[in-house]
Amino acid sequence: MLKNVDLAEIAACIDWGPFFQTWDLAGPFPQILRDEVVGAEAQRVFSDGKRMLQRLIEGRWLQANGVFALLPANTVDDDTIEVYADESREQVLLRWSPLRMQTERPVVDGEKRPNRCLADFVAPKAGPGAKPDYIGLFAVTAGLGVDKKERQFIADHDDYSAILLKALADRLAEAFAERLHQRVRTEFWGYAPDEALSNEALIAEQYRGIRPAPGYPACPDHRVKAQMFEVLKAQEIGMGLTESLAMTPAASVSGFYIAHPEATYFNVGRIGDDQIADWARRMAMEEAEARRGLAGVL
Ligand code: SAM
Repeated sequence: MLKNVDLAEIAACIDWGPFFQTWDLAGPFPQILRDEVVGAEAQRVFSDGKRMLQRLIEGRWLQANGVFALLPANTVDDDTIEVYADESREQVLLRWSPLRMQTERPVVDGEKRPNRCLADFVAPKAGPGAKPDYIGLFAVTAGLGVDKKERQFIADHDDYSAILLKALADRLAEAFAERLHQRVRTEFWGYAPDEALSNEALIAEQYRGIRPAPGYPACPDHRVKAQMFEVLKAQEIGMGLTESLAMTPAASVSGFYIAHPEATYFNVGRIGDDQIADWARRMAMEEAEARRGLAGVL
């Protein structure tokens, strides 16, 4: 558990790219600052953003808390990842069945591309390729304190600052996720102790391993977040989930750490009725409920 993490350390990892989308300003950063059409407006919000970021850090407007766990894990029944309490690998803390791509895959250099599932990047518990493996879970927030400060801005009829603050909190949450992932790779898990990447290289994900987030294309089901938050005791750092599994505070990020050298993000895409039935069995839920949870990929 990491509480009250230095906001300046986190700010050094900010990816300013998505910041401009808050104002519907489209274009890559930093080129957007010199764009013929939106350049002047982009420069204005960027300079306001940096100024508020400085005040936010100096005035400690926000609190950044995070929690992560690195745990023994293996796959069972092909596509189900079991996360264990300890090396005996007997007590299952969390069971996660990510979905597998079912669309026809292209042939590249004479080889058919695989129909991926995130479980492919965790070793099986038994059978060919079996070995002890590991996985990480994490949840970070930079949103504690946003509501209070936002209320002050609204009371002062300063909607612009309220929006700016929320955009900065989102940037800080993503930067915190990036920074913590870097420390996990180089220090805590330590599978890449010699990694030395610039912030641009971090943003371009030029490192080994991924941090897939529930609700994103490789793992569209949000449900696993409930188990993740329980295992991580996320409420102890002020994080929670709404009934519809949105994270609170809003400026939060959570996911898994997968260290396999070939692990990449992908899009599960459309899945078939056969997988839904199988997934419902794995998740011990009614098929109708499974369909509701996966409405986006049916
Ligand atoms: N630099 C970006 C920023 O500051 O906004 C990082 C966030 S961006 C949303 C990338 C993150 O989204 C990844 O680190 C991962 O957690 C998640 N992600 C992206 N594509 C994904 C996919 N296909 N499946 C699962 N998670 C994905």
